[in-house]
Amino acid sequence: MMRQYRTAKDANPGCLLFFRMGDFYELFFDDAVAAAAALDIALTRRGRHQGEDIPMCGVPVHAAESYLQRLIRKGFRVAVCEQIEEPVASRKRAGKTPVAREVVRVLTPGTLTEEALLDARHHNYLAALAEAGGAFGLAWLDMSTGEFHTQPVAAEALAAALARIDPGELLVADRLLARADLASVFEERAPTALPDARFDSVSARRRLCAQFAVAALDAFGGFDHAEIAAAGAALDYVALTQRGQMPRLAPPARLAAGAVMEIDAQTRRNLEIVEAISGGREGSLLGAIDMTLTGAGAREIAARLAAPLTAPAAIRARQDALAAFHDDADLREAVRAALRRCPDLARAVSRLTVGRGGPRDLAAVRDAIGCAGRLAPLLAADPPSPRAALSEAAAALDGHGALCQALTDALAPDLPLLARDGGFVAAGYDPALDELRVLRDDNRRLIAALQARYAEETGIASLKIRHNNVLGYFVEATVATAERLADNARFVHRQTIANARRFTTVELAGLERRLADAADRALARELEIFACLAAQVTAAAEPLAAAARRLAEIDVTAALAALAVERRHVRPVVDDGDGFEIVGGRHPVVELFLERDDGRPFIANDCDLGPDRRLWLVTGPNMAGKSTFLRQNALIAILAQIGAFVPAERAHIGVVDRLFSRVGAADDLARGRSTFMVEMVETAVILNQAGPRALVVLDEIGRGTATYDGLSIAWAALEHLHEVNRARALFATHFHELASLVGRLDALCCATMRVEEWGREIVFLHEVAPGAASQSYGIHVARLAGLPAAALARAEEVLETLETGGQSRALAALAEELPLFAAATPLPPPCGVCGLIEGVNPDELSPRAALDLLYRLSAASRGAGENG
Ligand code: ATP
Repeated sequence: MMRQYRTAKDANPGCLLFFRMGDFYELFFDDAVAAAAALDIALTRRGRHQGEDIPMCGVPVHAAESYLQRLIRKGFRVAVCEQIEEPVASRKRAGKTPVAREVVRVLTPGTLTEEALLDARHHNYLAALAEAGGAFGLAWLDMSTGEFHTQPVAAEALAAALARIDPGELLVADRLLARADLASVFEERAPTALPDARFDSVSARRRLCAQFAVAALDAFGGFDHAEIAAAGAALDYVALTQRGQMPRLAPPARLAAGAVMEIDAQTRRNLEIVEAISGGREGSLLGAIDMTLTGAGAREIAARLAAPLTAPAAIRARQDALAAFHDDADLREAVRAALRRCPDLARAVSRLTVGRGGPRDLAAVRDAIGCAGRLAPLLAADPPSPRAALSEAAAALDGHGALCQALTDALAPDLPLLARDGGFVAAGYDPALDELRVLRDDNRRLIAALQARYAEETGIASLKIRHNNVLGYFVEATVATAERLADNARFVHRQTIANARRFTTVELAGLERRLADAADRALARELEIFACLAAQVTAAAEPLAAAARRLAEIDVTAALAALAVERRHVRPVVDDGDGFEIVGGRHPVVELFLERDDGRPFIANDCDLGPDRRLWLVTGPNMAGKSTFLRQNALIAILAQIGAFVPAERAHIGVVDRLFSRVGAADDLARGRSTFMVEMVETAVILNQAGPRALVVLDEIGRGTATYDGLSIAWAALEHLHEVNRARALFATHFHELASLVGRLDALCCATMRVEEWGREIVFLHEVAPGAASQSYGIHVARLAGLPAAALARAEEVLETLETGGQSRALAALAEELPLFAAATPLPPPCGVCGLIEGVNPDELSPRAALDLLYRLSAASRGAGENG
């Protein structure tokens, strides 16, 4: 058996081997040590190898999924080695050989299908990156839903594309992994390295043609060599990990260059699009707008946010569909009520196509297509009805009635998780099964009758016929009464336990055999029925996948409509122009938090980045709302381009092809970059890459270095944006000096956050107004934050000196003439009294000690007085 283990282990390097032994998966040697630590389970020993104990740990087969889930989350890959014959078969063979075993599957983060291993609201992409002739190609697929995409990608856009796809697993050829110029792309991703040969584009093309049964791939799109190589490698990896049991995959769909708004990883993080900086959805744009009701809908809305569109026609088509729900509350509510009970069709179908589905997946298909069938007539309509925008979806949802009926007829009300548990076929569905069940139940009844007869014949009223997995059926009598059975030749003794003895009889053994036989045949029949139903689903996999996609789209569209109604969002005008005009814009996340937590209204603001005013210099005090204003405009652009309505009174947006943001300070010590270095790297990316269709949001550049250096960099960046990039941009800064560029840069426009002063107090109005700020009120914010009074007073003094003298002269004066903190409120000098009290905890003082302390304090204060 160990030889068998070794062979399986050596054939699957880099994987933990789950080795099936009866009801357990066992792990041995280093695997056992690693898994026991990762799963926090007991590490034991079994047998010896080369004079050493063999470490072992195991997990029960019936609970394996939860252990697998934890291992996969921790980055392990697991090869599952099953017994592929019944133990009886191995006993029948000549000689003593172990049960035949084989690795039936390798689980990796990107190749999961089980419900328990997946997050219902997240895609799980397996991506592959290839290079051919100097060009890069990406392919990504989701085995759990069957989606498959490819994209040509330039080297400098690789990181952004991967940030958008956010794959669960990335396959990369050894050759590319070794390239220093790509190191930053793979950082933090831990790609799966594969031999270069797996990315050969010629065999990839062959593999793809075979998978999709076509002679050429042209029908699916004009793919580059690199895209084909990547798609072939991904397909190959799926075949490898699934051991040939291929899931249904859609033919690859090509994402053309420029079809989606490119947003690099940094910008995604800064703008908190699908995840907040603190981690998780709460606080992100996705968290604030996601009102979808199904897992598939949640995956779809996240995918849309990750990849806003750039073609106005496609955006308008989504808006039309949204408007149909927006303007018709009854339709919206009816559709959402139906979706609430709609299971995950795509994932259930995928599991059934790879042979990993169970009765509950059949029920999921039944319920989902039932739901689709109810939705179809609600959505279908001809123009001029606004619902005509939904009629394409309606067509895909219809037409599954026969399958739905077949599943409804076949399935029992209560379903087990696994088909092999049986009992899932409805009574009356299959006469042959019903007969076998009657036979099985008759035998059960006969066994019950036998118990009554034995009790009567032996006079032992407490006699029972019981069942367990070891003995099967047996007659059980208490120790006191068992004597009577021992004398009776009919009862053959099997076992004695603490307070009972167990027997069997020829009659009971016969009944048991017949019962087991009937039960086995009933189960075999059920499994046949299961296979037949699963085959019907598999045969309809393509139209079912299309219906699943439509259900997800309908969920997203109706959810965004509900959001638009609830949060007063409006339909933006999106076109190919170069305008960007938002009237009464609001920040979708901050607004939500303010209303929920503070009950304060959010102050709406306008933003117009038309061609003659495309660069805004936003100044204003700290805490006045600059960052909020900057981000809200970027988020509105994203929302507009996913086809959603936007939080504004009115909006007109010329499509944005790339979005850049550089917000706030963060250092990246893990990558050896200081705060200022991170800031400069991000600024460099923007100044090098932003074109005239880009939207740039720059919040405070040049803050992490000396004042003049920072001002100079900010100044130059502003000029570069205006003259070279010519992008639409919002530039927030505390360098008020930059406002003097207004006359020189004709498309530069100054905006400031309004505040009102009340004596020493200031009130933030959160209103954007034309003009430039004259001061930052930083000391005011420092006071709000609780800086010590002495430090605040000193800061005010320094500020005044700086403002009245020229800066360099003032600095010299400050350093030389003013003793540090001299004029600030002095700290009280330590006195005898203070010294006595310091460190005293009144709660710990006894009455006696307290009295002593009082005497000493009184003496000290008298002494202080006498000394003046
Ligand atoms: P700093 O210069 O210190 O970074 P800032 O000017 O960028 O500050 P923000 O961080 O945008 O200020 O805003 C500070 C707080 O003000 C927000 O957390 C929010 O609570 C509130 N705020 C911002 N904008 C608005 C608004 N339009 N309406 C209501 N409250 C707002």
